[in-house]
Amino acid sequence: MYRNITLLGSTGSIGRQTLDVVRRLKINVTALTANRSVKLLEEQAREFNPRAVCIADENKYLEMKNSLADTDIKVFGGDDGILECARLSESELAVNAIVGIAGLRPTLEAISAKKDIALANKETLVTGGEIVKNAVIENGVKLLPVDSEHSAVFQCLQGAPRGSLKKIILTASGGPFFGKTRDELERVTVKEALNHPNWSMGAKITIDSATMMNKGLEVIEACHLFNVGLDDIEVVVHRESIIHSMVEFNDNAVVAQLGSADMRIPIQYAITYPERVESPCLPLDFAELGSLTFTKPDREVFECLALCERAFGQGGLMPAVANGSNEAAVELFLSGKIGILDIPRLIKKAMINIPNKQNINIDDVYTADSEARKIVMSEYS
Ligand code: NDP
Repeated sequence: MYRNITLLGSTGSIGRQTLDVVRRLKINVTALTANRSVKLLEEQAREFNPRAVCIADENKYLEMKNSLADTDIKVFGGDDGILECARLSESELAVNAIVGIAGLRPTLEAISAKKDIALANKETLVTGGEIVKNAVIENGVKLLPVDSEHSAVFQCLQGAPRGSLKKIILTASGGPFFGKTRDELERVTVKEALNHPNWSMGAKITIDSATMMNKGLEVIEACHLFNVGLDDIEVVVHRESIIHSMVEFNDNAVVAQLGSADMRIPIQYAITYPERVESPCLPLDFAELGSLTFTKPDREVFECLALCERAFGQGGLMPAVANGSNEAAVELFLSGKIGILDIPRLIKKAMINIPNKQNINIDDVYTADSEARKIVMSEYS
């Protein structure tokens, strides 16, 4: 079990649940970071007494610094401050719970400082997949999945001989709009989209779940994490979110990981890996559950899933283009400026208009991200 961790994105949904795990397991916290949530970061810092905190939004730096002026906690500000926190020597594990591509550089920084990574920030692998994987190998660190589906696959694969995996079956809840037609989607509101049936999460991933972009991002994440191709992954809609994903082996035996819809299980497993310790999460009651259901996803209505698969198939910059245009479009949707069906439309527009390139470096990824955002914003500024 890791004893010293740095938690990037501590004020978010995953961040707060990670601190719940940390509190119970009595793990030391080296650093905590946030974007703008000064008050909550201050409260967390006073409770967990890290060596450092960072507030990414530089306009909030002075307020943050003043709020902890009576403590010994070092306060950093800005994106560089997040990188400082990611590499602090005391921590053995960096839990990355930042949302969006903002998590990519901190992941790389922590890897190059030889930290193992517990990765919730799926955009890290979606945008920087090969670059991150090469850095993991070069630095000899572990990359532990936190995303529930990927943690499930990781758990199912424990003890499996190399070469025995035939297929990954990623489950999807289908989100709040499962079964709706495109016409019905035309009229959905932000409030309805934020009302996920099974999970309570940050706003961006909740919208991604409503469009099934989240499943598309997860397909790309799974291809990188488990070194498989698109043909080795099947997405199945499983409304109950009880089976978090499955693997099929060469002999057609299927192993599944089940549990209540509580992110503290995968978060805790990444921190205690390979040990398992008690958790406050509810056990399953199978008689109460009764039945579990499975259906195919509708890639015509939920185009974002197919767009991610296409982007991964094209390789190079395309996953970063799909991700960047989605991040910008989700912000527009959340601010009421576009409808939900504009999200895939804008992703498609960015993917068509940005020329692809293979053998990319980190600067290429950030350039593609900002180009994609520009294409989305050009319609609405
Ligand atoms: P939230 O929006 O709830 O939290 C995001 C965190 O990142 C907050 O601490 C936020 O700070 C911080 N942050 C936001 N922007 C920046 C930035 N530019 N620089 C540095 N820090 C920043 O997100 P979630 O916790 O829901 O999701 C986090 C990641 O985990 C995402 O990649 C998501 O896809 C993934 N994930 C989430 C799951 C969930 O159940 N929530 C499940 C599986 C994966 P502030 O509070 O100040 O804004």
